[in-house]
Amino acid sequence: MTDTADIIIIGAGVHGASVAFHLAQRGVKATILEKKFVAAGATGRSSGLVRMHYDVQQDTELAWVSFQYFRNWKEIVGGDCGFTRTGFIQLVAPADTETLKGNVASHQAIGVPVMLIKKDDVKRLAPSFNVNDIELAAYEPESGYAMPSDTANSLINAAREKGARLIQDCTVTGIITKSGKVTGVRTTQGEFNAPVVVNAAGAWAGVINTMVELDLPYDTWHHDTMFVVRPHEIGPSHPTVIDFANEMYFRPEGNLTLVGLEDGNPLGESPDSDTDHARKGFVERGIDRICRRIPSMETGALHSAHAGYDGITLDQHPYLGTAGPDGFYLDCGFSGTGFKTAPAVGLCMSELILDGRSKTVDISIYSPQRLSDGKQITGEHAYSSIWH
Ligand SMILES: Cc1cc2nc3c(=O)[nH]c(=O)nc-3n(C[C@H](O)[C@H](O)[C@H](O)COP(=O)(O)OP(=O)(O)OC[C@H]3O[C@@H](n4cnc5c(N)ncnc54)[C@H](O)[C@@H]3O)c2cc1C
Repeated sequence: MTDTADIIIIGAGVHGASVAFHLAQRGVKATILEKKFVAAGATGRSSGLVRMHYDVQQDTELAWVSFQYFRNWKEIVGGDCGFTRTGFIQLVAPADTETLKGNVASHQAIGVPVMLIKKDDVKRLAPSFNVNDIELAAYEPESGYAMPSDTANSLINAAREKGARLIQDCTVTGIITKSGKVTGVRTTQGEFNAPVVVNAAGAWAGVINTMVELDLPYDTWHHDTMFVVRPHEIGPSHPTVIDFANEMYFRPEGNLTLVGLEDGNPLGESPDSDTDHARKGFVERGIDRICRRIPSMETGALHSAHAGYDGITLDQHPYLGTAGPDGFYLDCGFSGTGFKTAPAVGLCMSELILDGRSKTVDISIYSPQRLSDGKQITGEHAYSSIWH
C-alpha cells in the first residue's frame, strides 16, 4: 500500500497529538503514525504535574502558554484534560534560597502567578508537612496536575474532527529521502509519501534519528513512580510539590499520593523494557523520602508502582527544530518534564513548520544542533540537574 499525506507525525504521545492539533487549527491535515496506541509511551505513564517553576526562562514561557490551555481546555481544545488545581509548592534546601528568589522574580516578570512564602506559610498550606529543613519556598496557587492520556486523546480527537488521521498499530521502520529531502516513510502498513516528517517518538526518537543517519546525542530515561494510600489524618488533599531538598516530587490523586524521585533514573535501557513494575528498591526509597516530608505517611499503604521511559538529551532539554534532510523535524527529548509544555510546544512547532519560525515563544534555543555547537541550555539562576 502507498498513501500520501501533507505531513507525517511519528508518535501519538502528547507531543505528536499537540502538533497535529495545531496544524489542524491552521487547516493542515496531518497523518499520525503510532506503533501501538495513543499515549502508549511516556505520556500514558506521566505524573502530569502542571507548574511553571523552571530555571530556564523559555521553559517557563512554554509552561505558562500551555497553562492557559490546561485551565481553559474545554473552550480551546474540547474534551477534558483532567486539570485539577491543587496549588504547587517548590521546596528547596536553604543553600538554594537565593536561586529560588531569582527564579521567582523572573517568573513574576512574565506574569506567572507565583509568590515566595516562608516555612510557616508552607505549614499553613500543608499542616502535615515537616518544614524544619526549609526557609523559603515558591508557591503557585493556580497550578496542579492534569491527566496525560486524556490530554493526548482530546488533542487527537480535536485534530481528527478537522481532518487529521490517526493510524495505530503502524510502526515506522524507515524514512525515505531523495536528493537530501524527506519524501516519506516506510511502515509495517506500507509506505506513506509526505514532504514533511515530524519525529515525536519520545524515548524511541533516537532510533528514528538513525534512520536519517542523524548522529545526535540521545538517550532513554527510566522513571519509576508509586501511589501511596494516604492516612486519613493528612486530610482529603495536599498541594502538588517538587521537593528539591529531598530529591522528589509528589501530588495527590483522590485518596492517593503519587511519588517520584529525582535520583536513580537509569539511562540507556531499551524503552521496550518492562514498565508494569518499578525497579527493585524504588518503593523503599520512595517511602523513606515521602516520610521525611510527611512523617504521618508512615501509616500509609502502598497502592501500586510502575515505570515509564522518556527520551533525554545531554542538557535535559528537548530538540525542537530541523535536522538532517530537508523536511525532517525533531520534537523530542523532553527529558522527563515535557507533559506540561506540550500545548505550547505543539503550537510553536506548527508555526515553525508552516511559517519558518515560531512566534509564540522563541524556541531557537532548543535547536538540535546546539550541543554540537558547544552550547548547553542552562538557567540564569540554575539549580543542579534535575535527574541524576
Ligand atoms: C513516569 C514519568 C513521569 C513523568 N511525569 C511528568 C510530569 O509530572 N510532568 C511533566 O511535565 N512531564 C512528565 N514526564 C515527562 C512527559 O511525560 C514526557 O516528556 C512526554 O509525555 C513525552 O511525550 P512524547 O509525545 O514526546 O512521547 P511519548 O508519550 O513517549 O510518545 C511517543 C510515541 O511514539 C510511538 N512510537 C515510537 N516509535 C515509533 C515508531 N517507530 N513508529 C510509530 N510510532 C512510534 C510510541 O509508541 C509512543 O506512543 C514524565 C515522564 C515519565 C516517563
